[in-house]
Amino acid sequence: MRGVLTVVFAGLMACHSPEPQIAAPPAEPTSSQSRRVAATSACHYDVVFEAPSRLSIDARCDGSQVRGFLAAETSMAHHVAMVAADGSPIEQRDAKFALPAGARAAVHYELDLDAVAREHQDIDVVYASEDAWLTAVSTWLLRPYPINRKAEAIIDVQLPPGVEFASGLTRRPDGRRSMPAWTIPVATYAAFGRLTRVTHTLPGPLANDGSGHPLAQIEMVTLPGRFAITARDRQHWLERTVAAVSDFWHGFPVAAATLFVVPYPGGREIAQGKVVATGGASVAIVLGSKANRSVLEHDWVLVHELFHLGVPSFAGEGKWLDEGLATYYEPLIRTRAGWRSERALWGELASGLPRGLQAMEIDGLENARDGSGIYWGGAMLALLADVQARRRSDGRLGLEDGLRAVLAKGGNATTVWSVDDIVQAVDERLGEPVLRPLVQAHRESGQPANLDGTLRELGVGWGPRGPWLDDAATLQHIRRAIVRPTVDPPASR
Ligand SMILES: [Zn+2]
Repeated sequence: MRGVLTVVFAGLMACHSPEPQIAAPPAEPTSSQSRRVAATSACHYDVVFEAPSRLSIDARCDGSQVRGFLAAETSMAHHVAMVAADGSPIEQRDAKFALPAGARAAVHYELDLDAVAREHQDIDVVYASEDAWLTAVSTWLLRPYPINRKAEAIIDVQLPPGVEFASGLTRRPDGRRSMPAWTIPVATYAAFGRLTRVTHTLPGPLANDGSGHPLAQIEMVTLPGRFAITARDRQHWLERTVAAVSDFWHGFPVAAATLFVVPYPGGREIAQGKVVATGGASVAIVLGSKANRSVLEHDWVLVHELFHLGVPSFAGEGKWLDEGLATYYEPLIRTRAGWRSERALWGELASGLPRGLQAMEIDGLENARDGSGIYWGGAMLALLADVQARRRSDGRLGLEDGLRAVLAKGGNATTVWSVDDIVQAVDERLGEPVLRPLVQAHRESGQPANLDGTLRELGVGWGPRGPWLDDAATLQHIRRAIVRPTVDPPASR
């Protein structure tokens, strides 16, 4: 039970940062407005890293729409020193840097990464490790305001010898990086400094017609610091986890991802994991410097984060679906990889899933009161959908086949879908309404979920010696199919 408690607690630390709770950008100027305000199509950021840790940035936006720039947080805005490109001062209030009336949007600003880290040692701001810094891109890329949805931020980074830059930001053919400017506040990760980088190539996302697997590139970036685990063992852990998640999705789910490992001095566990896919996919893992090989062998955090890359992001809804799917499939992926026993898998599900009963049966998943309701309530719905799908198809199709169909339509974590669209695409692949009735029953308010009855039919029980499996149970063949599904040949997908 102690292990299960650890999983629940740590589950709250391993999360997916979905599409942003930021204000939607204004509509395009109308034709009458556009005579006065020309919409911005691009903002260029020329970023120069100056040793030991200063970023010196020239930012300019075309058009006449932009009236100033916004820092990510008021609490770190005092680290930013900004002047207009002609040298005149800029008025700063809280996180806002306002241009003089009528001035063109061209500014120069600087900030010192190490100074920010001394105040906010946090992977979502700046996390310093020796002479390297993991950052949320929004810490140093100030967002123009107002800005329209079509405007692109184009980023060019210049580095002195010996300093590296790695980021999840999408690469352009010209070597620069880019993202939609309005999503800067929730952008992906980037690191500067002395970095160890290994690029791993493997079959990539399934094409829409199921025919091809273009290659996916995963860059694994480690910040400097002391680790009890050798670089070789860390690399083995990253590669085997990436392979196990790729096996699940039938190919790595996004075409490119950057995976950052940062040391946590003195820690014995994986302290934190987070995936951010806005502007390009990246995962940050905070690994205790004293963690041993056993920690990596039993790790579930990286599996959980990488799994998220295969599911679309949601805006303002669906956190239970996002986290519930990751909570249900993470232990299954590790069992399929041979890293844990079937008994341990079902034991974890049988002891964890009841934590989601309040959300499933009383509150409704969108109204879940805490992490247990979101993670385990969503996982319970995933199990019930999986059992339904396999019962109706005689074990041939599971919920995962529906999720792979979403992915084949381009629905990975770098895209935003609605819960309804995912439900529709999943049920289309399953050939009948499986997910929709369950979502309707448990999304906004609760209904009985029959968790105990389902586990009993699957042959999952709990006795004085822990979990046991009943091979004479009515649905024992479904239980086996969940763990070891028959893989359809690609042509029939
Ligand atoms: Zn998560």
